[in-house]
Amino acid sequence: MKIYNSLGSKIEEFEPLEEGIVKVYTCGPTVYNYASIGNFRTYLAADILIRTLKYSSYDVKYVMNLTDVGHLTGDNLGDADTGEDRIEKEAKKEGKSAWDISKFYIDAFIKDYERLNLTKPELFAKATDHIKEQIELVRRIEQKGFTYKTSDGIYFDTKRYEQETGRKYGELSTLDKIKEGARVEVNNEKQNPEDFALWKFSPSSEKRQMEWDSPWGVGFPGWHIECSAMSMKYLGESFDFHVGGEDLRQTHHPNEIAQAESVTGKTFVKYWMHVTFLKVDGKKMSKSLGNVYRIDDIVDKGYDPLALRYLFMTSHYRDSINFTWDALEAADTTLKKLRKLTMQYRNETRRVTLSEEKRQKIENYSQEFGSHVENDLDTPKAIATMWKILKSNIPSIDKYDLLLDFDEIFGLNLRGLEGVEIPKEIIELAEKRMQLRNEGEYEESDKVREEIQKRGFNVKDRNGGYDIEKV
Ligand code: AMP
Ligand code: ZN
Repeated sequence: MKIYNSLGSKIEEFEPLEEGIVKVYTCGPTVYNYASIGNFRTYLAADILIRTLKYSSYDVKYVMNLTDVGHLTGDNLGDADTGEDRIEKEAKKEGKSAWDISKFYIDAFIKDYERLNLTKPELFAKATDHIKEQIELVRRIEQKGFTYKTSDGIYFDTKRYEQETGRKYGELSTLDKIKEGARVEVNNEKQNPEDFALWKFSPSSEKRQMEWDSPWGVGFPGWHIECSAMSMKYLGESFDFHVGGEDLRQTHHPNEIAQAESVTGKTFVKYWMHVTFLKVDGKKMSKSLGNVYRIDDIVDKGYDPLALRYLFMTSHYRDSINFTWDALEAADTTLKKLRKLTMQYRNETRRVTLSEEKRQKIENYSQEFGSHVENDLDTPKAIATMWKILKSNIPSIDKYDLLLDFDEIFGLNLRGLEGVEIPKEIIELAEKRMQLRNEGEYEESDKVREEIQKRGFNVKDRNGGYDIEKV
C-alpha cells in the first residue's frame, strides 16, 4: 500500500512497524459544539484508511481522542494557548456545567459518527479521564529540562529542545512562521513564538469548573499534551499512523511530536496523514457565514447521511472539496441507484459456469479496485472502477459479490439491504454440486443438494447454470 506522508511530503510505500498490526490515532473533536460536516470529512478519511488496512489483511488498533478540556479559543495555527477554554465558554453561554456540555456533545458526536458508518475505534479516549498521564508526561519533559514557567503556565521550550536533542522542531509544518495573535493578544512571556503551554494555571480572577492539582499548581492541561500522553499510553512510544485535518499539521502535531520525542528519544509516529479542509459553497465554513452544517441538517432536509459519505468519497482526501446542496442531492440519487442495482443483482442469483475469459475479467476488476484504494486511498478512482464493473457484461451475481467486497471499504451498508441474502457457504456448496455434475458424479452431487436443502435452500438447474432459492 502507498500513502502520502506529510512528514517528508511524499508518497511512500507503507511498512508497518510491527508485522501484521497497524496502530492508528486520529485527533478527535473538541466537544463544545456539534461536529461539522467538515470535521467528518477528516474522520471519514481516517475510516477509509482503517478499512483499507483491514482489507489488506492487517489487524488494526485504532484510538481517537475526545478533547473535553484545554482547547482554547486562540486559533489552531499558532495561539491555541490563549483565550478562553472552549468548553467552559460554552457552559457559561448555555448555563450548564462544563461536564454537562462535554457529555451532551460527546453523545451527539457518537450518534453522528454511527450514522456515517465510521469504524468505531477501540477507544474514544477522553482528555479528562487521563489527567494523571498528562501530568506525568509534563513531569518527564520537565526532568529533561525542556520547560519553563510563566505567570500563566508551564511552557515547552522549543529552542532548548532543538539545541539539546539535535532534533528539529516543526518539521511537519508548512508555515514559515507561527502566526501569533491571530485572534487574541500575543503572549509576551513566551521565550520563542513556537513555544507552547503544557500546563495552564487556573486564573486567579475566576474559578474554573474543570481544574486539577498538579506539581506546578492548580490548573488544566494544555491542548496538545493529551494526544501525546494518550496515544503513547494505548499505542506505544512509536506507532504507525496519526490522522487529522490540515490545520493540525502546523502546530498541534509538531507539538505532539516534540512532547513525545523529547522524552522517548524515538520517532513518535511513522506516517502523518492530513486531510484537506472541506469548503461550503466555495467558502471556508464559518459561523458568521451560517454555513457550518452538521449531520442533523442533512437529515432534516431528507437526505441519508450515507449520501454525504458517498459524496466525500468522490474526492481524494488531499484534494479540496466543495460541499453544495446540489452535490449532495446528486450523491443521494446515485446512492439510491446503487442500492437498487444491488437488490436487483442479488435477486438474480442465477449462476452460470464462467468462461475462462470472464473469470479473468472479474479477477482483473477486483485487482484494479484494490490497486486504487491501496494507492493513497484513491476512492474517486475506486468508485469509477465500481461503475465500470456494473456496466460490464459479467454475471449479476458476480457484480453483487464484488459490490459487497468493495463495500468493506465504501461502507455504504449494501449488505444490510432488505431481502434474502444467499450465504457464501451455500453458494460454495452449489458450485461444488455443479462441478460434481459436470464430472458425472451424480450420486455425490445429489448428496450436496441434500446438504443445501438441510440448510434451508433449494438449487435448480437452468441453462447450464443454476438458481438458488430460499425454501
Ligand atoms: P476540532 O473539533 O476543531 O478540534 O476539529 C476536529 C478535527 O476536524 C480536526 O482534525 C480538524 O483539523 C478537522 N477539521 C476541522 N474543520 C475541518 C474542515 N472544514 N474540513 C476537514 N476537516 C476539518
Ligand atoms: Zn491531537
